[in-house]
Amino acid sequence: MRTIPVIQEILSANDELAQENRERLNRAGVLAVNLMSAPGAGKTSLILRTAQALRGQLRLGVVEGDVASQVDADRVAAAGLPVVQINTGGGCHLDANMLRAALGRLPLEQMDLLIVENVGNLICPASFRLGEHLRVVLTSLAEGDDKPQKYPDLFLQADAIVVNKLDLEAYLDFDRQRFRKLVQAMNPHAALFELSCRNGEGVEAWTTWLYQQRQALLARLNP
Ligand code: MG
Ligand code: ZN
Repeated sequence: MRTIPVIQEILSANDELAQENRERLNRAGVLAVNLMSAPGAGKTSLILRTAQALRGQLRLGVVEGDVASQVDADRVAAAGLPVVQINTGGGCHLDANMLRAALGRLPLEQMDLLIVENVGNLICPASFRLGEHLRVVLTSLAEGDDKPQKYPDLFLQADAIVVNKLDLEAYLDFDRQRFRKLVQAMNPHAALFELSCRNGEGVEAWTTWLYQQRQALLARLNP
C-alpha cells in the first residue's frame, strides 16, 4: 500500500503534461500518432513510406525517440521532413515532458500530422501518455504471431495495429489468420493493417485511414 500512491502521482503528473501537449496539438490542428514497437519492426521505414504516400495530402512532422544516436532522424531529415531527435540517455520510453520539449522545436503551424517514433520497446511505452490522439502498435512477421499474448497492455490500448514485412511471408511461420483472430478477440476496436514497407504493398490502406483520422479530428475541433 505504500508504493502504489507514489506511482499514481508520477503518472498523473505525466498525464497533466500530456493534456497540455494535446491542447497545443489541437490548436495547430495536428493529429499526433504515438508509434510503438520492438526494435527493428520498421518504425522509421513506416514513417518514410507514410510520408511518401501522403505527399501533397498531409504535411508530416516527426519526433524520433531513441536511447542514443540520431541515425533515424538523419534518415527522416534526408526525406525533407521536419524532425526532432530525442535521446533518452538510457531511458526505455518517451514521456510527455520529452514530447513537450520536442513540440517547441517543430513548425506545428505548417504540419497536419505528427508521428512520434517511441523508443523500441513493447513494455513501458504503454504506460506513458504523450498527448497523442492515436496509439499505433507496429509489429512484423519476423517477430512471430504471439506478440499480442506476450505484451497485452500495448495491444489492448492500440487504436491501430500494423503488421510489417509482408514481403517475408514465404520465409516465416507467421500465421496471419491466427494473429487476426487473436487481435480481434483482444481489441476489436483496433484497425488492423498488413503491409510491406519494403515493396509498398498494403501501405495505401494505412495512409487512407490516417487521412480519415485527421479529417475526423478537424471535424471534432471545428464542429
Ligand atoms: Mg527507428
Ligand atoms: Zn521505459
